[in-house]
Amino acid sequence: MSDEFTTTVYYDDDADESVLADRTVAVLGYGSQGHAHAQNLADSGVDVVVGLREGSSSREEARTDGLEVATPVEAAAQADTVSVLVPDTVQPDVYEAIADEMEAGDTLQFAHGFNIHYGQIEPDPEVNVTMVAPKSPGHLVRRTYKRGEGTPGLIAVYQDPSGEAKDQALAYAKAIGCTRAGVIETSFAEETETDLFGEQAVLCGGVTELMKQGYETLVDAGYSPEMAYFECLNEMKLIVDLIYEGGLMEMWDSVSDTAEYGGLTRGKMVVDDDARENMEEVLRQVQDGEFAKEWISENQTNRPSYKQLRQAEQEHDAEVVGERLRDLFAWDEQASE
Ligand code: NAD
Ligand code: MG
Repeated sequence: MSDEFTTTVYYDDDADESVLADRTVAVLGYGSQGHAHAQNLADSGVDVVVGLREGSSSREEARTDGLEVATPVEAAAQADTVSVLVPDTVQPDVYEAIADEMEAGDTLQFAHGFNIHYGQIEPDPEVNVTMVAPKSPGHLVRRTYKRGEGTPGLIAVYQDPSGEAKDQALAYAKAIGCTRAGVIETSFAEETETDLFGEQAVLCGGVTELMKQGYETLVDAGYSPEMAYFECLNEMKLIVDLIYEGGLMEMWDSVSDTAEYGGLTRGKMVVDDDARENMEEVLRQVQDGEFAKEWISENQTNRPSYKQLRQAEQEHDAEVVGERLRDLFAWDEQASE
């Protein structure tokens, strides 16, 4: 494969912050992303108002951080750009409350495409709809910005009645620090579908099932739960850190030749053609909206399956053993500080 990027990467010089100079940005929510976007925008000279419910414990926090706070409706009424950074599952309700404040020329800005892509929020055609999604948790978006650096991110435009949506997204990405690291352009569909697939098949779902199946295989064969936990759960971090730093080859070069040969020959016995077909089925359910429909209905019925699955995960033997063992690893926390 060629070593050229298949897509354009945008940096600071590609973004014109003056596009946001005469706009007020309302940041709805003050959680992981919200607190970071609001503070970075404000530090970049953008006029920011944070929208939070009366009685929200985040109100005091945002004020202490020097930001103006209003209710979501007041903030949206004041703003030209509304950045929706409340949890994805509550966004449709929050949007319903502020919809009347979204006027022609205003911009609705997201950090994830779920609600737009699956039709849970249907903005007026006169409103710009953009995405700026940092590829990292909010505390890093804030911490790297303060160091004069940034985290990479994605931008996307869903609708652009003003003809200015992409410039606004780039300016927003610059103001939160993302163009310092590099921003790539995607679509709401691509961001949403790849994000859901990745977390289901590989990251959150795939990795935990691989760990639990490995753990159970060893324990069922008579090995000690402690050994099984170390080999199949705890050591994952060491391997992932190497891949994060230097790719697959840095990992293979760092483990023993025995581990490399064993891994290269046996890995495919575990994650085989059947696993690949199952991944394709997971992707199909993401693409055709089956997963979204199921998750939306879970949320409308007080999350019965979600609660049951969480409970079972909490009671898994590996979780019980792990809690005991992680106490032994207190030295590690100090070492990595
Ligand atoms: P979060 O759960 O950390 O914070 C949400 C905040 O919204 C809360 O702190 C609270 O201030 C507010 N809130 C909660 N319920 C509310 C309600 N009913 N009405 C009004 N306000 C309410 O959320 P987050 O992880 O920052 O996610 C925000 C958006 O960013 C989502 O679209 C998410 O997909 C996206 N995103 C998150 C990350 C991440 O790493 N956390 C990364 C990229 C994109
Ligand atoms: Mg408005």
